Amino acid sequence: MSRSVLIALGGNAILQHKEKGTSEEQFENVRKTCEEMVRLVAEGYRIAITHGNGPQVGDILLKNEIAKNTLPAMPLDVCGAESQGMIGYMMQQSMYNELRKAGLNIPVATVLTQTLVRKDDPAFQSPTKPIGPFYTAMEASRLRVEKGWTVINDSGRGYRRVVPSPIPASITEGSVIKELFNQGTIVIACGGGGVPVLADENGALQGVEAVIDKDHGAALLATLISADILLILTDVEKVALNYGRPNQKDIDDMTTGEAKMYLAEGHFPGGSMGPKVESAIRFLEAGGERAIITSIGRALDALKGKAGTTIYR
Ligand code: ADP
Ligand code: MG
Repeated sequence: MSRSVLIALGGNAILQHKEKGTSEEQFENVRKTCEEMVRLVAEGYRIAITHGNGPQVGDILLKNEIAKNTLPAMPLDVCGAESQGMIGYMMQQSMYNELRKAGLNIPVATVLTQTLVRKDDPAFQSPTKPIGPFYTAMEASRLRVEKGWTVINDSGRGYRRVVPSPIPASITEGSVIKELFNQGTIVIACGGGGVPVLADENGALQGVEAVIDKDHGAALLATLISADILLILTDVEKVALNYGRPNQKDIDDMTTGEAKMYLAEGHFPGGSMGPKVESAIRFLEAGGERAIITSIGRALDALKGKAGTTIYR
């Protein structure tokens, strides 16, 4: 039986740090990423894909801000949907082209995804995730009053809006995604963690001004499609203890118990490695076989147990 893998792509799969974010740059990064993913497909792995959207949604928000006197600015949920469409398009086309080069005829489709969050998620009491452009102190006070935003001083670099980052409860388009995947389609879904939505007392959905960490969306998606493996691809080859310190120690493998202990000891900070390890744990506890955290170039080696950090139950 061929193994099924949910691949969660980090920011560097689409945009590198020093780049400006031109269409050409993003397409080229996505193409290289797809080339690597096709190597997995060629080895017989069945894959589904999710991805982050931080820099892209940031750019869309900034464009809306700059143009707001000419065209109405769109709210965060609409901008998130826009970023899923944009990245989904680039990835869908690049996957098609790379599969074709490899002589593989496999359909690829993006599903624009909404993720249901709970009104009583504690994250709504304390918005923490900075998004969009920087503002002056005066603009910040005005936005607090006019829009009711939480705007904070972002480590002296200026004022920035912060929004809640709740844990997603379920994927609205779950059944469609699952059906497509089971039919053999390479599905791209839950981009940027999905657009967060709340359900009212009648079950009607409405977008909410929040963001979801793509790693949390990835755990949910991997469980939904009953993936054997959750493969989180980022810009480091291995998860480490004492990361960035002289006594840094790379981890080859760990159990969920060890992962929880290291998390509690503060080795994996929130907003970067923390959500990846938490997602790995959640996926494994929901029945997943293995979770792997590694860099894009080492993906295939890591699946064969020769690279990256593997987390077991
Ligand atoms: P992504 O876009 O892939 O989600 P993030 O920046 O959110 O990327 O997370 C990856 C980063 O986490 C790495 O570049 C690294 O700097 C950082 N990091 C923090 N703690 C650790 C750790 N313990 N081991 C490895 N990397 C870590
Ligand atoms: Mg991240």
